Amino acid sequence: MIKQIKMITFDLDDTLWDNVPTITRAEIDTRQWIEERVGKVSWGDFNDFINLRDDLIKEDASIEWDISKLRKEIFRIKLDHIKPSSLRDKIVDEAFSVFMNKRHEILLFDGVADALKALSEKYILGVLTNGNADVYKFNIGKYFRFAISSLEAKASKPNRSHFDLAVKQVDGVTFNEILHIGDHQINDILFAHKLGIDTLWFNNNNATWDQDFEKPDEFNSWELLTQIIENKYE
Ligand SMILES: [Mg+2]
Repeated sequence: MIKQIKMITFDLDDTLWDNVPTITRAEIDTRQWIEERVGKVSWGDFNDFINLRDDLIKEDASIEWDISKLRKEIFRIKLDHIKPSSLRDKIVDEAFSVFMNKRHEILLFDGVADALKALSEKYILGVLTNGNADVYKFNIGKYFRFAISSLEAKASKPNRSHFDLAVKQVDGVTFNEILHIGDHQINDILFAHKLGIDTLWFNNNNATWDQDFEKPDEFNSWELLTQIIENKYE
């Protein structure tokens, strides 16, 4: 007997679009925007960022999943020399808006919009993201019944809270009636798998499967997705 699913949940970053160029561009442009107002800032390297993040999490555990707060706190620290602090905070807030606008300048992978449209006619679609992109800012937003980010889940995937919230969105849906689709072997696939949620792995860069459980079905092009789902479930 073919398994039936009612709901499909999707990761966003690196699943619906390539996130690296988007975030890189947003970082560069936001730093430039800030420096145009306050002069040169020493941003530090990735290690500094990790250390800073660890320190901030010690003071405020919510920083771990509230990446918007994390970003603003880091701006605040980097601009600590700007006085008065009210001016610094104003620049931080504006810089964050600049970043968020740039962060939404994405290019969907080919076939995403068509696949979502077709799937939304048969299934309830939802978003589960660790990031801070708002799917409702895009045209494809209309295909999603709900969107859950780490802010609502108060945790980041692979924590199960994303999936626990997802199942509560629609009456009568159980984990084994959900298909989750994402690019990340652990955040997207491992925990969904542990909960009995079917998974499809978006693998568009020919990555090898590194987990110690069976690799789920994978796809490398959104143009193939509706057919794969049809074959599996219809
Ligand atoms: Mg992802």
